[in-house]
Order: sequence, then structure tokens, then C-alpha cells
Amino acid sequence: MDNETIYNEIGKLIKKERKKIGMTQEQLAIKTNYSLSFIANIESNTYQSFSLHTLYNIANALNISIHDLIPSKDTWQEKSYQLICNNCKFNVDIPKEIGKYIENEFSEKERFTCPICKRKKVELKSEKKQC
Ligand SMILES: [Zn+2]
Repeated sequence: MDNETIYNEIGKLIKKERKKIGMTQEQLAIKTNYSLSFIANIESNTYQSFSLHTLYNIANALNISIHDLIPSKDTWQEKSYQLICNNCKFNVDIPKEIGKYIENEFSEKERFTCPICKRKKVELKSEKKQC
């Protein structure tokens, strides 16, 4: 697990927890006294490192424990991604970068249009690779 991935995973957790309580990036920036661009960078896939004390401040602003922002051991396992149509069973393996992107940008319930049967029945499946 490289440094970049660690910060990206923490950023994802911050974004998830922030959205859970309906807080905007602007509101989090104001509450923590950090700039909006700093908050946006932390939550995006750009490599933005930060200190433990910054993480503590963010957890505080979100009214959660710092533990909630530490990725679990599962996160470090490599995943493989597939798009599967629940209608015609069309399926395709996709690169993990694209899988991660879809995971971050869309909700779990999001369905995509199938290139074969044209129905909106395609969902993202992820599987932990066996070590
Ligand atoms: Zn289909």
C-alpha cells in the first residue's frame, strides 16, 4: 500500500462521513478553518497529505471519532471490478481505476445502460482478490 493510496482512502471516508450528515465541503472548511481547496483536495484523488492533527480536527468537525476515518484492513486488499447486466447477463471486467472511479462517483444503487440489451440493468460488482 503506497502513501498516495492511504491518503486517498482516508479522503474517501471523510467524504462519506461528511455526506452522511449532509454537510457541504464549504461548511466543513469553515468549521475546521481550512481552505475549501484543501478540503476538496483531501477528498479527491489528488495526492494531498495531511497531519494526524488535521485528521483529528476534521473528525471533530464531523462530530465523529478519528477511528471512523481510518480505513479498515479490508481496504488494503486489492479488488477486481466487473460490470454485470442483471437482465441479459452481459459482463465485462474493468480496470480497477475505472472501478474505483465509479465506486466513488456513483451510489451503490446506480444502474447503467447495457450495451447489449439496452436496458438500465448494469451494476458494478467488486470482489476482493484472493491472496
Ligand atoms: Zn443487458
